[in-house]
Amino acid sequence: MATAMSVSAVTPAAAAVARPRTMVCVPATARAPREMAEELAAAAALGADVAELRLDCLVGFAPRRDLPVILAKPRPLPALVTYRPKWEGGEYEGDDESRFEALLLAMELGAEYVDVELKVADKFMKLISGRKPDNCKLIVSSHNYESTPSSEELANLVAQIQATGADIVKIATTATEIVDVAKMFQILVHCQEKQVPIIGLVMNDRGFISRVLCPKYGGFLTFGSLKKGKESAPAQPTAAELINLYNIRQIGPDTKVFGIIGKPVGHSKSPILHNEAFRSVGFNAVYVPFLVDDLAKFLNTYSSPDFAGFSCTIPHKEAAVRCCDEVDPIARAIGAVNTIVRRPDGKLVGYNTDYVGAISAIEDGIRASEQTDPDTSPLAGRLFVVIGAGGAGKALAYGAKEKGARVVIANRTFARAQELANLIGAPALTLADLENYHPEEGMILANTTAIGMHPNVNETPLSKQALKSYAVVFDAVYTPKETRLLREAAECGATVVSGLEMFIRQAMGQFEHFTGMPVDDYKFRAIASSLDNRNTMKPRL
Ligand code: NAP
Repeated sequence: MATAMSVSAVTPAAAAVARPRTMVCVPATARAPREMAEELAAAAALGADVAELRLDCLVGFAPRRDLPVILAKPRPLPALVTYRPKWEGGEYEGDDESRFEALLLAMELGAEYVDVELKVADKFMKLISGRKPDNCKLIVSSHNYESTPSSEELANLVAQIQATGADIVKIATTATEIVDVAKMFQILVHCQEKQVPIIGLVMNDRGFISRVLCPKYGGFLTFGSLKKGKESAPAQPTAAELINLYNIRQIGPDTKVFGIIGKPVGHSKSPILHNEAFRSVGFNAVYVPFLVDDLAKFLNTYSSPDFAGFSCTIPHKEAAVRCCDEVDPIARAIGAVNTIVRRPDGKLVGYNTDYVGAISAIEDGIRASEQTDPDTSPLAGRLFVVIGAGGAGKALAYGAKEKGARVVIANRTFARAQELANLIGAPALTLADLENYHPEEGMILANTTAIGMHPNVNETPLSKQALKSYAVVFDAVYTPKETRLLREAAECGATVVSGLEMFIRQAMGQFEHFTGMPVDDYKFRAIASSLDNRNTMKPRL
């Protein structure tokens, strides 16, 4: 089997033979038997394929009394019965014998799957020898709550689990960095080639993509909770997110993978927007959050053509310029890349769609509220104050300058303000200077810092008093849509432009780069407008 960590050599399409689809399994973790049966019914209503009944979560569990209730037929979903001991991450503290008897009874009552831990699998096999019903499949599982071993070690683990006589192998490890997941993808492909059914998941927020992308690599099932707060493992998505947000039923070997690279990425609405947009045009792709610590390592590891494009956010936009093989001249001038596309020859090309998105949104905002000359940019000749000197700050400063505005940069770290100001030939200010800065009327203000972003919604980068000098105020922050800055600017009579408008426009640019298709402005906006009414993407990575 492949030994390198890169998934460049992993070609699920080549490995794909006719295979059953990856099932969505909802863990039922209720404390009482009747509630657990209700959770199983609720999982069926969500569209899940199977429910995992976690017997170790039950309080005062009496197998002969309670199992007939939990496993009563007709049952709306197949049942996977798990009775996890404390030493393997569960809640059961008793002896193995009583535990095994309960699992055997579950088999006899018609449970479709039973899970037992590798450490005791041989003992369990002896007990059930000749007694396991044909229609019950045995899952033998191994959990590592600290790390993800090498591909070789994982392959050995698979062999060890198979040797117990397991029908299905289950390996759950823990990611310390997102590249750990590549090792699990390799094992999934390896098992698919050998036609070994395997559940291979990587726990933790850095392992999140294993839960969404396992159908691409032939995983037997993935877990999705009934709702937020009902997770049975760290960073488990909900079943509804797997089915509706990530369109997991559509993910197969040929599905292209896109996503947002950031740290954190949990606040981003990009997965909702892009997945919906891909679906609306029938583009076979999925868009996931990538919680990345080291951008170069991530790009080197996920180097297969299947990982076809990325959005970049805090704090990777500037590193992305260095990591791309080619960088669009505008992105290079700005010094920040927010979009990476993998060309068919494998080369990574970087773009900046923040620049066009933000500047066009501000121009249109001004045109809608003032009489302007249609032949020139309404920014030309205006004093344009940018707060912030990071990726978004550079894009705004560069764009405004290009449009003929007189740009001024203010930033918390004054040296960074000076650096950007020097780059584009502009004056630099401290944030304190800005409070009393009103050289003229009709100025434009653009906040490009995260001040005022959820959850710090009461913060604002500039006092209401100082805002009175501005005719137009733009805020790059888009969660919430109306920030305190925009609310107070509107109260002062300024034209306000929301970061959501920039977000939609930069995403439209990314959609075109990712799909090679022209964006349907109307359709895209209809999708984006629904974002306002939905929660931010979960889980919070
Ligand atoms: P970045 O490269 O990390 O830059 C962050 C900037 O914000 C730096 O200038 C930093 O100042 C400043 N800053 C951060 N926290 C601050 C604080 N508490 N007080 C004062 N200044 C602070 O990030 P970015 O990519 O430019 O993103 C910045 C913001 O724009 C984020 O909220 C992001 O969500 C938003 N954004 C929105 C869109 C959109 O489509 N609407 C697109 C891109 C970005 P120092 O130099 O002193 O650290």
